Amino acid sequence: MTSGTARVDQLSVNLTALRARIAAACAAAGRPAGDVTLVAITKTFPASDVRLLAGLGVTDVGENRDQEAAGKAAACADLRPPLRWHFVGQLQANKSKSVVRYADVVHSVDRPRLVEALGSRASAAGRVITCLIQVDLDPDPDPGGTRGGARPGDVPALASQVAATSGLVLGGVMALAPLGAPPRPAFRRLAEVAEVVRAAHRGAMMISAGMTGDLEEAIAEGATHVRVGTALLGSRRAFVR
Ligand SMILES: *Cc1c(COP(=O)(O)O)cnc(C)c1O
Repeated sequence: MTSGTARVDQLSVNLTALRARIAAACAAAGRPAGDVTLVAITKTFPASDVRLLAGLGVTDVGENRDQEAAGKAAACADLRPPLRWHFVGQLQANKSKSVVRYADVVHSVDRPRLVEALGSRASAAGRVITCLIQVDLDPDPDPGGTRGGARPGDVPALASQVAATSGLVLGGVMALAPLGAPPRPAFRRLAEVAEVVRAAHRGAMMISAGMTGDLEEAIAEGATHVRVGTALLGSRRAFVR
């Protein structure tokens, strides 16, 4: 166990290096620095780390499991300004009631039933949730795949459903690079899907793409939000997701 002081120093060094990576990728892409929002993915790390990151200027944090996220959001609810919480994991419709209480953005919207559940739960809670349509970029999708995402051809209808649902706002699109394939062509495909969505919904400007291993490729292809865990917080232990 490292002391609290050592941990904040470690996070500070990591954050500075990560911000430099993001700035360099923006410069290489001819995009203004500040075009890309960092979402710190804090899954498996304690709420104390989230608080340290907030103290270092991180404004957006993401989690992939409801129970863990709910606890951390509650443990950080006193922070001012409040953090923006992003839910980035696969989401069962029956968890919607919990997720809409703390999440500002849900990145993993990929089916009509989930849109309905999020919309009704958000309305009941008096909240407005920004939704990203998760796109499955695998050219050869595994029918039993667990990473989620709508097929590109299904995205326009899902986007329109979100836009028409009270309690929800359409933010844009999200994707993970397919496993075992070069990320850049996949992110280029995501940018094409994003363009189709933007053409129909002018406010839907968000492209959530890029993680520790591929954020440069994502920024080169227009990502507006990168979701980074390992480069900021260190390796996650193998037995937890
Ligand atoms: C864990 C996770 C990330 C962060 O991955 P790193 O490789 O640790 O940066 C990004 N997006 C999603 C959906 C995740 O589950």
